[in-house]
Amino acid sequence: MGYLAGFAVTFQKMFKWTPSGETVTVQYPKDKRPKPERLHGRHVLNRYEDGMEKCIGCELCAGVCPAKCIYVRGADNPPDDPVSPGERYGFVYEINFLRCIHCDLCVEACPTEAITESKLFEFSFTNRQDAIYTKSELVVGDDGRPQHLPWEDWRDGEDIPTSAWMRATAAHGAAIHEGEVAWSAELGYGTRAPEPAQSDADLSRSLVSEVREADSGYQSSDDAHGGGH
Ligand code: SF4
Ligand code: SF4
Repeated sequence: MGYLAGFAVTFQKMFKWTPSGETVTVQYPKDKRPKPERLHGRHVLNRYEDGMEKCIGCELCAGVCPAKCIYVRGADNPPDDPVSPGERYGFVYEINFLRCIHCDLCVEACPTEAITESKLFEFSFTNRQDAIYTKSELVVGDDGRPQHLPWEDWRDGEDIPTSAWMRATAAHGAAIHEGEVAWSAELGYGTRAPEPAQSDADLSRSLVSEVREADSGYQSSDDAHGGGH
């Protein structure tokens, strides 16, 4: 009969308020809870504010993807009408969302922050072919926002901010950034303000740089005065 106690908990949560004052049950999908800021949803291919695409077709995202669900082909930019600021651009870009595990390793690997993830996970398909998003579906619109495709359930606020993302690894591989998490400040739609602790981290990083510069200056002057062994 112990399971009856379990039902009791369920009904309590359905009809009562929690101590925090928040209802636990919502009429999903009619109602949606606000999503966590760092939620990993369906991807977008970002553009710069001048409309240029950020993707340079380097295929690093495809190479790092553990599910092997990204297919990219790069092509040389047409000199008269370049698509990206780089030499090359993403000519073909596809993601198979039946395979994607939303690990964000592609986002981490991308050198230009071209690929990021929105918060949208409410999308479904009736056949395998439809699960493969093509570049024309992934690239953001002229306003920098993700396209709202007919089979996707977007609500207010879910398409912001999609350009920014949280860097979980050392920025640009510099050891001084090791273990630091920070929102990217890249150009694009939906960039985020730094988190409160990020300013402190930036401050301490600049202090470390100053100390190192002072230290190297001290060593040079030491050498100049015949120091060393
Ligand atoms: S989120 Fe992970 S699994 Fe999905 S495309 Fe990116 S690297 Fe592949
Ligand atoms: S999305 Fe980024 S990592 Fe992938 S091909 Fe484009 S520039 Fe390279």
